[in-house]
Amino acid sequence: MEIYLYGSPLLKRKTKRVGKLPDHFPEFLERMYATMYDDDGIGLSANQVGVDRHFFIADFSLHDKTMFREIFINPEILKSSGVDTSEEGCLSIPEIHEKVTRAYKIKLRYENFKRDVVEREFEGFPARVIQHEIDHLNGILFVDRISPLKRSFIDSKLKKIAEKGSTQTEPVTI
Ligand SMILES: [Zn+2]
Repeated sequence: MEIYLYGSPLLKRKTKRVGKLPDHFPEFLERMYATMYDDDGIGLSANQVGVDRHFFIADFSLHDKTMFREIFINPEILKSSGVDTSEEGCLSIPEIHEKVTRAYKIKLRYENFKRDVVEREFEGFPARVIQHEIDHLNGILFVDRISPLKRSFIDSKLKKIAEKGSTQTEPVTI
């Protein structure tokens, strides 16, 4: 699968709520995981592979062996608390890392692969990944959350990435 890069209009748009999923969705999902692992990613949102739907995948076990991998369908943050600042990167913005301030702890409601509604609390690293991915689904990138001054320092790198990203205008149908 192709990763949609910074500059693609699909990354600036709020994705659509997931309704019924097609029968071949499990295969699509496996390809999506493979794409994420190939690029050493820990999370990947649907619109990062061109799909205009409100879901993302994450594999926290890459960071913490006691954790798990999961698909988060129609995720919604119910509560957030605490503040944490840490460095982030993004498969859609290669080679750029910046510190981003986010909530330390969140309570999330989402549907899992079986479409059961789950409510669960996350803190620290997984909470950060989830907030980063939900931002994607709402058309927000981590570079939108840094100061204008810091952003000006990476402006030329972003423009370079956008040369390809701006050509990725076609959505992918699943
Ligand atoms: Zn990202």
